[in-house]
Amino acid sequence: MHRGVRLTPARKEVFALLSKHEGAIGAYDLLEQLKQVVPNAKPPTIYRALDFLQAQGFVHKISSSNSYVLCSHFEKQHPVQMLICRQCGSVQEIHSEGVHEQFLNQANAQGFQVEQQTVEALGTCSQCVPKSS
Ligand SMILES: [Zn+2]
Ligand SMILES: [Zn+2]
Repeated sequence: MHRGVRLTPARKEVFALLSKHEGAIGAYDLLEQLKQVVPNAKPPTIYRALDFLQAQGFVHKISSSNSYVLCSHFEKQHPVQMLICRQCGSVQEIHSEGVHEQFLNQANAQGFQVEQQTVEALGTCSQCVPKSS
């Protein structure tokens, strides 16, 4: 584990489950899997673990599908753009400084303080794009 963060068994399990899972996964699917290792796990268990992992920057929430994906960078809260495939559900994380800067500039112009910024793009990933013959 990174940065000496203390993890409870439930948090550690949720982290392990997310790291084994390809793409994004919903909280209830995670709960079902968690119950196999932590039989008394309840929805608050999973939400607390996910909140914690999000705050640590280990996990990103994908609002459009209400699911979670492991962060590929393990930085404390960073701006992120997500490329979400509608076909296979894969999630790719990109960091475009240009996008982030423009975003902040426009927000600042409105006098708005940005605390967290996630951009979600829905589409088709390179694996799922129909091959042209
Ligand atoms: Zn990330
Ligand atoms: Zn795909």
